Amino acid sequence: MQAACMECGTQVGLERKPMQYHCGICGGILRIVHDFSQVDAARLKRVFDERRGMRNSIAASGVWRYKELIAPELQDDVVVTRNEGNTGLYEPAPVKDFAGVRRLYLKAQSENPSGSFKDNGMAVAVSHGKWLGYSTFACTSTGNTSSSLAMYAAIAGIQATVLVPSSEVSPNKVLQTLAYGATVNTFGGTYDDGIRWLSINAEQQGMYVCNSVNPLRIEGQKSIIFELAHDLEWQLPDWIVLPGGALSNAAALGQGLHDLYTLGFINRLPKVAVIQAEGASPFHRMVAASHRTLTPEPKPSTRASALNIGNPPSWLKALRMLEMTEGVTAAVSDAEIMEAKACVDRSGIGCEPASAAAVAGLRKLVRNGIIAPEETAACILTGSMLKDTDAIREFHMDGVPSAPPLLRNTIRSVTLSSCDGIMVK
Ligand SMILES: *Cc1c(COP(=O)(O)O)cnc(C)c1O
Ligand SMILES: [Zn+2]
Repeated sequence: MQAACMECGTQVGLERKPMQYHCGICGGILRIVHDFSQVDAARLKRVFDERRGMRNSIAASGVWRYKELIAPELQDDVVVTRNEGNTGLYEPAPVKDFAGVRRLYLKAQSENPSGSFKDNGMAVAVSHGKWLGYSTFACTSTGNTSSSLAMYAAIAGIQATVLVPSSEVSPNKVLQTLAYGATVNTFGGTYDDGIRWLSINAEQQGMYVCNSVNPLRIEGQKSIIFELAHDLEWQLPDWIVLPGGALSNAAALGQGLHDLYTLGFINRLPKVAVIQAEGASPFHRMVAASHRTLTPEPKPSTRASALNIGNPPSWLKALRMLEMTEGVTAAVSDAEIMEAKACVDRSGIGCEPASAAAVAGLRKLVRNGIIAPEETAACILTGSMLKDTDAIREFHMDGVPSAPPLLRNTIRSVTLSSCDGIMVK
């Protein structure tokens, strides 16, 4: 298994310990390079179709189904899986009307086994770490990466230790991680501080790092676009819209689209819109200013805790993806995010605040004339609505941030001795 430096192209082997996350020459991040010269796209399309109906085999997984394009070197006996992927694709009319496009798909990565898209990448990273012979796996996390790692560690019978910033992380995610049995360490600092700590200490502590600086995470997350394209019979909509925090998902989308396009699975690249939260938008600010180096945001702050990242490790991969797809970025306020979330929740699909940034951003891009109302789009819903129940209470019960009355729902207190008032509103 080979990787190459994003900055200088130096090749790095990833087949034995110690695992490398950065280029030894220039410190750049790594991407996996595949030899696809033997890949026959027409044959693989048929194979992928056949696997979609399978059960009780790794091909039942929405990640491992596409193994030839993700990690062909891994033996089936190291593969860790919990039937990740296989997520629903929905077209709720209220959300389409809210966003203002002709056709809108929601790809509900929230339906993954741990409740977020992190499972797509984590299944592959943990499998690779096992293959290399690691027994301790670590990450720093705004909550979902740690839940996902803890879940796979429990399944694979390995140790997980996670670093979680003590503030601005949803308690639901920390508790989920705890319940799966991981060692949970909270610290006073940001996600970015946790990443820095791991990059200095992980190898010496014998830990395999499962953050998205690990290029296997990106390879696994490519399956999201593979599955979406497969669901739509290899005809993608005009736009793919997704939230951006550490930008791993944007990077994976770029890599996945590149693979599908160069192999001939798709004959047209969609445009991609990366949506950040205003309080944590260093990538959007860089792109808007036409800069080519990222200036980190020292004090990121947004209610969408999964986006609360000031120094996104995968920004260069995300920039290359934007250039390849002629994509755009946008930033949305917490109030816009929570309003979009209420709309997605009401449609019966539901998502956590960070995911709703995609829908809020799509709406903004349509209103600003960057996306035309005649165009079609797919939003990636990254996490489940049960990942942040405080956000639901704040919006519906407390009315913050500035909850529009039409989307608010409240609990009524009634007396059962009278029928008065116990009716549908
Ligand atoms: C991790 C995460 C994001 C951000 O994805 P990146 O790959 O870090 O940009 C968005 N939404 C949810 C629910 C997440 O868990
Ligand atoms: Zn390099």
